[in-house]
Amino acid sequence: TNGSGVASFKAAETVIELASMFKEKPDPSNLVFGTAFTDHMLTIEWSASDGWQKPHIGPFKNLSMHPASSSLQYAVELFEGLKAYRGVDNNIRLFRPLNNMERMLRSACRVGLPSFDKEELLECIKKLVEIEKAWVPDSSSASLYIRPTLIGTEPSLGIKKPSQALLYVILSPVGSYFSTRSFLSLWADPKYTRAWRGGTGDCKMGGNYGASIYAQYEALEMGCQQVLWLYGDNHQITEVGTMNLFLYWINENGDDRQRKRSAKIETLRSRSIPSHLVGVYLARNISGKGPVLGSARDSRRVQNGPCLIRRLKELNRRVMVDLEVCWGEFKVTERYLTMGDLTAALKENRVKEMFGAGTACIVCPVGCILYKGDYGRIESDWTYLVQ
Ligand code: PMP
Repeated sequence: TNGSGVASFKAAETVIELASMFKEKPDPSNLVFGTAFTDHMLTIEWSASDGWQKPHIGPFKNLSMHPASSSLQYAVELFEGLKAYRGVDNNIRLFRPLNNMERMLRSACRVGLPSFDKEELLECIKKLVEIEKAWVPDSSSASLYIRPTLIGTEPSLGIKKPSQALLYVILSPVGSYFSTRSFLSLWADPKYTRAWRGGTGDCKMGGNYGASIYAQYEALEMGCQQVLWLYGDNHQITEVGTMNLFLYWINENGDDRQRKRSAKIETLRSRSIPSHLVGVYLARNISGKGPVLGSARDSRRVQNGPCLIRRLKELNRRVMVDLEVCWGEFKVTERYLTMGDLTAALKENRVKEMFGAGTACIVCPVGCILYKGDYGRIESDWTYLVQ
């Protein structure tokens, strides 16, 4: 065990075996999400009898696994997604990596995979990124996506905590998540549910994602790009694809009532808030205790300018800081919202902008929502997107 009492591997013990063959790096302006991988990967083996082995950074290669492995049979696996950016100063920065390490530990616990020291894993990832730093694109629209993964590898069909596991990290240079630059069209239909109370929606486990693909294709058939996941009889809005959702609007109570809300909002109110900007909504998850997933959503710094989303997009590669401490111009609330609330706001012209935020897509504006056969259109200052 390390100082924190958690049985873990140690980054300082990492064994490094450099590759002798190197791939050609793809053109950063022409990257398809998650299709190109770097020359090295990190692997760390675990077994119930011997604990964690030394971390190993070696050439990128296929895994060899027993066909009965619980990750293949029962989705006893989890993953993370974070990014390394090259700054204008040529330094490479990871965006809020400890958030991902914490979420990874939560997912590991939920699916019965072994725990580890989050700081040690982060140190290992830094070593890997350092070795692969030439793969971090020198581009304002591309970055290096980091995919830590933890899988059960016990060669048995028993449904139980696996006695063998493998943690690995692979890296992929990525550009825009969506191939089109336009704003998103969403399909909101309550017939499919992504997550539910007591479920695993707040963990990043493969099963959650595999199970969402069917609905995603139905959304495409309906002429929309993404599923807007609803929950419950009142059609609560939860998430979009791999994003948390934000609504920039005048809420149903108008200015005056909103000002009487919670202390957090009061704090923001004390810094002169223009009366016409009443809230940024951020969908909460319905499973688990807290929000579903979401590191990107925690932080956005706002600069002056007419369009909130444009300002957020401009921040793409800059250091971002906590929304609560830096936004003086909006009230920020985290709350539940139903499709009924949103439809009413659209009818009454109270919706200013709507967007998703997530690691892969960064900030992505929503243009329309197909719900009960009607398109709700969100009009805004979008012209910058189609330049
Ligand atoms: N919701 C889901 C379902 C996701 O997969 C993701 C991506 N991890 C998010 C929200 C956004 O989370 P983050 O900002 O940490 O990328």
